[in-house]
Amino acid sequence: MVIFSPRVRILLVSSEVAPFAKTGGLGDVSAALPRALRALGHEVRVVAPFYQRVRTSGRAFERVLPPSEITLGAHRYTFSVLASELPGSDVPVLFVDCPALYDRASIYTEDPDEHRRFALLSWAALKLCQYQQWAPDVVHANDWQTALLPLMLQTVFAWDRLFERTRSVLTIHNIGHQGAFPASILPDTGLADAASSFHQDQLRGGRLNYLLTGILYANAITTVSPTYAREITTVEHGVGLDPFLRARRDVLFGILNGIDPGEWSPERDMRIPFRFSRDDLANKERDKEALMSAMKLPYVRGVPVIGIVSRLVWQKGFELCDAVLPTLLARRDVQVVVLGSGEGRYEELFARLARQHPRKLAFHRGFSEPLAHLIEAGADMFLMPSRYEPCGLNQMYSLAYGTVPIVHATGGLADTVRTWDARTGEGNGFAFEHFDASGLAWALGYALETWNRREQWARLQQNGMRDDFSWTRRVRAYEELYRAIAPG
Ligand code: ADP
Repeated sequence: MVIFSPRVRILLVSSEVAPFAKTGGLGDVSAALPRALRALGHEVRVVAPFYQRVRTSGRAFERVLPPSEITLGAHRYTFSVLASELPGSDVPVLFVDCPALYDRASIYTEDPDEHRRFALLSWAALKLCQYQQWAPDVVHANDWQTALLPLMLQTVFAWDRLFERTRSVLTIHNIGHQGAFPASILPDTGLADAASSFHQDQLRGGRLNYLLTGILYANAITTVSPTYAREITTVEHGVGLDPFLRARRDVLFGILNGIDPGEWSPERDMRIPFRFSRDDLANKERDKEALMSAMKLPYVRGVPVIGIVSRLVWQKGFELCDAVLPTLLARRDVQVVVLGSGEGRYEELFARLARQHPRKLAFHRGFSEPLAHLIEAGADMFLMPSRYEPCGLNQMYSLAYGTVPIVHATGGLADTVRTWDARTGEGNGFAFEHFDASGLAWALGYALETWNRREQWARLQQNGMRDDFSWTRRVRAYEELYRAIAPG
């Protein structure tokens, strides 16, 4: 029997792609998914902005589109496209070079042209396809920044037969960010001429909401875990878009993110001083020593270390730490290492705790890939009390490194972390159901109690390290979806 498995041509457009530009999980996914699709033989191209940090990265780029002009409302921009490759693969990354919009210190801004920065990205991605006469089967948009793509394909680019068979997928990585702007910016999207064919909800309440636009027009919508896919159809988690997601429930899918074993595996991680595996965890203790030394905390054998690596924002639920950590640090033999930056109130919380407990808690304010890896390897437990969490990557990294996650059971955290059951020896971490201080205190207390039962702890670590969260598995779900929406 011949198994016919046609290759799919995928254009993935994203505002982040690691290692070039990343602020969170989106950057990781926009690199790992294309790499995994390519490994299955598909033809993938990634389009992202040529931010200042990409320009100054010291990498080499090849110009593949000469300078072109585009008018968005009253604004005229010149852009070109520069190509590089995703490290570890031959997937082209095509950078839209428009200095007027992207040559800025940060990836996201609160500048008044933020809506144009990403409208242009979508335009440029499709113009590039036209220039190269490359017809994607699937245009895969990610989050609000690129959520105008499905509508563009169905309106302003619909005349071009190149896109006749092109279908669109929108992945929602976080519904908390929607890109809602005053409706008066419509001309700036370049879509004003298409407004007569807009969905009746399109310009609701005087706002043009990029993410809603994607939800209304994409051929399929995915989000990054099955639980989050259910949650965002509810009033509680849908942040106003739940009615539209309920209406499109038949094309809404939850596909858990994977982790990239090339980047995140304790056997191969070149960013940590000592590599280890499920069969021999001795080096994990040496990484712990290195971690404590890097964080300038005393290393005390037998005392558990809890790690935190996170954007310090409301979503991540660190209010609960404010209520629980002071008592924990005062009463228990435990140490905490925190890496992150974000809102002042959370930075101040951890800075204060570090001052009050200088031998027990250390806070590194900032973004550091090497330190993130060292924390995953050297910590014993990993804390994610997220208020909501579409998927979450760090709990999966933690599981791979034998670092036991303690999480709020929400979104992807609920799909990946199973609370330890001493009776059956099942479970890979600790998940509390109710987002409140007593929930977190319960989970931490249970974790510390289990830590003292060394055999149980070893089993718990082994359970987590045996779980397979690699993209190699996850990518099949995307492949199936792309094929399912392809025209017959
Ligand atoms: P989100 O996308 O909401 O930030 P995820 O858990 O999906 O959350 O992804 C977070 C990613 O960003 C992980 O790869 C994590 O290691 C990384 N990260 C977050 N903060 C930092 C930091 N301060 N330093 C290094 N990496 C960080």
